[in-house]
Amino acid sequence: MAEKTESKMDKIVSLCKRRGFVFQGSEIYGGLRGTWDFGPLGVLLNNNIKREWWKMFVLDREDMYGLDAAILMNEKVWEASGHTGAGFADPIVECEKCNHRFRADHLENKEVCPDCGGKLGEQKDFNLMFATKVGAEGNVQSYLRPETAQGIFVNFKNVVDSMSPKLPFGIAQTGKAFRNEIAPREFLFRVREFEQMEIEYFVKEGEWEVEFEKLLLDIRAWHARLGLSADNIREYEVPANDLAHYSKRTIDFEYNYPGKGYDELAGFAYRTDHDLKSHQVASGVSMEYIEPDGSRFIPHVLEPSFGVGRALLAVLSEAYTEDEMNGEVRTYLKLPTYLAPYRAAVSPLLKNKPELVAKAREVFAMLKKEFGNVAFDDNSNVGKRYRRQDEIGTPHCVTIDFETLGEENPDLKDTVTVRDRDTGEQTRVKIEDLVNYMMQG
Ligand code: ATP
Repeated sequence: MAEKTESKMDKIVSLCKRRGFVFQGSEIYGGLRGTWDFGPLGVLLNNNIKREWWKMFVLDREDMYGLDAAILMNEKVWEASGHTGAGFADPIVECEKCNHRFRADHLENKEVCPDCGGKLGEQKDFNLMFATKVGAEGNVQSYLRPETAQGIFVNFKNVVDSMSPKLPFGIAQTGKAFRNEIAPREFLFRVREFEQMEIEYFVKEGEWEVEFEKLLLDIRAWHARLGLSADNIREYEVPANDLAHYSKRTIDFEYNYPGKGYDELAGFAYRTDHDLKSHQVASGVSMEYIEPDGSRFIPHVLEPSFGVGRALLAVLSEAYTEDEMNGEVRTYLKLPTYLAPYRAAVSPLLKNKPELVAKAREVFAMLKKEFGNVAFDDNSNVGKRYRRQDEIGTPHCVTIDFETLGEENPDLKDTVTVRDRDTGEQTRVKIEDLVNYMMQG
């Protein structure tokens, strides 16, 4: 059983490379551990995930405001947030013989090197932030941000002053984050450069529990929107003795990754007023919110935090399907229509018939104008095209044939064949009805 699920992840990794979803970072130079590059189809899928998230959590709501803060920030931000200290460090041990380093908390035997059998040295703290110097003189210390959240806290005042939001309200941001993970592994799961989608939702202290429950429903709805089955998601309620000192409640959303089992997909924490208070103390700038009746206080905050890469990996794991069609095994990605890299692929039945190609181009232009992400595919024969499009999750393949030209049956003139990815069923649809037809599925 374990072998079967493990091989599913291998198949997903290989599909990702073969079909242009994800490539190893700096591959021609032997790679750079913990970095991956998104190829043409990976960018489309990634962007679709982020667009859906932004739509659900920002555009469709009245209480959310967007933000795009700089990756480089004043080093005082990270001192105030605690990231420069032991709070953002992993315990590390180094082998005295081969100098390989390991996460101490991941080792069963903290004395012996698992690589060479040498003696392991003393446990130390290893800070996960990438330090960098800013300015021509190189004398300004900065860091690549390890989370997007702090960009939100330091702009809290700016958003309040410019937008006059009423509590409760949230500030949402998507963007890159960087962590010098000691042991990057499991494809996109643990990497050194990744993208986050984060919200800081500001509430009155007395209302945190009610708002927590509401956001919990929204997070569940988001995971359903990604097409993830509730059976593959576990909500891990972090026990009180494991909570960060400032948190009163944290839930980790864990996905059942193939070959790996349940591990964190997203997190949701009630962080009290810890962050705003820390920045108020460190910067000397008031983080108070003033109510219409003149009362002032530092709002409390709920933080749903999502990783794009872990979401993409879960989406692919859920969508990856093998079945048998026409007596052959086929692989397809059963992606929700709105996440599929290509909404449709348009093909002429034969590519050496100019009249078919011309008509196919017309239909392609029409669909592209409507949906944007539509492919023109005239490679090899129809059967192979279907298989290739199945493998990348294209919901509909539209084929222009001689019937479309009205050569055999005038009644079928200006109709096309639309093939459904999941069932393989083919339906004749009038070109003028095509957009509507596709919108329904
Ligand atoms: P973990 O315990 O797995 O290291 P974390 O609890 O440190 O994760 P958070 O700081 O809560 O993670 O970050 C929020 C989200 O960012 C995570 O739920 C995950 O989706 C994503 N994330 C964090 N670290 C990484 C990483 N190294 N690679 C990919 N995604 C990550």
